[in-house]
Amino acid sequence: MKHVIALDVGGTGMKAALLAQDGSVLLEARRPTGREHGTDAVVTAILDFAAELADEGRTRLGSAPVAAGVAVPGTIDEKNGIAVFSANLGWRDLPLRKLLGERLGGLPVALGHDVRTGGLAEGRIGAGRGVDRFLFVALGTGIAGAIGIDGRIEAGAHGYGGEIGHVVVRPGGPACGCGARGCLETLASASAVSRAWADACGDPDADAAACAAAVEAGDPRAAEVWRTAVDALADGIVLAQSLLDPSTVIVGGGLAEAGDTLFTPLRTAVSERLTFQMPPVVVPAELRDTAASLGAGLLAWDLLSTEVTA
Ligand SMILES: [Zn+2]
Repeated sequence: MKHVIALDVGGTGMKAALLAQDGSVLLEARRPTGREHGTDAVVTAILDFAAELADEGRTRLGSAPVAAGVAVPGTIDEKNGIAVFSANLGWRDLPLRKLLGERLGGLPVALGHDVRTGGLAEGRIGAGRGVDRFLFVALGTGIAGAIGIDGRIEAGAHGYGGEIGHVVVRPGGPACGCGARGCLETLASASAVSRAWADACGDPDADAAACAAAVEAGDPRAAEVWRTAVDALADGIVLAQSLLDPSTVIVGGGLAEAGDTLFTPLRTAVSERLTFQMPPVVVPAELRDTAASLGAGLLAWDLLSTEVTA
């Protein structure tokens, strides 16, 4: 069956799939990135993994893959296929698309940014199926976002489009890793909620999931921590609504695992803030940690359809 290689390179692990044109997964595999062995070893591991996936396709699906898509973190130059910088993986100006193409015998390769490919997959085959304007927000260690328009992700002029985590929602608020103060991710990321709850309850190991559980159990201190995060998130979403007017806001990442404990107050907080804007539908992401890999595969298929029509 015709398929492409879909590969997501994360800080610690790689997730891969062989993907049919309709987005269905024909085979899945995972392995460590091996970053403790250095950047060169990471690059070798990526190339080896891709080559093995191509072999698996030939052996188990009866044909070689027709393209490959790879998602990486950090700053990337999608147009030129260069992984510009990743603090986690240590590379600078790595020509990953070219290296992969060579290793895979001249196969067409698409290089994508992990959050944007995750958003692409959620928008096309996940929680946003059938929606042509959406905002994807991932609440993890930080907060990342992707703007979906007409079946593609708008990366902006410099590749920083969708950075809702660094919208300032509390001027003069907590210091952010980016150098500003009061960015959304200092208040509503899973890490921010974990920190705030650890401070409030006195247990340094308490995390966002424990905070959600305490909210459900009726703990007023947890409710206060949670409300701070939900209010900040609602402010960020309403700002995005005013600028972009998406029909759907897809919320994923660790904090979204809290389910209705997050979504019920979040929907209320968003609708309370709207004046003239049309309310977005706020829904949980569906694809969890496979979104970036699936989106990389979709980019690979898009590459082929572009080549055919070009
Ligand atoms: Zn920031």
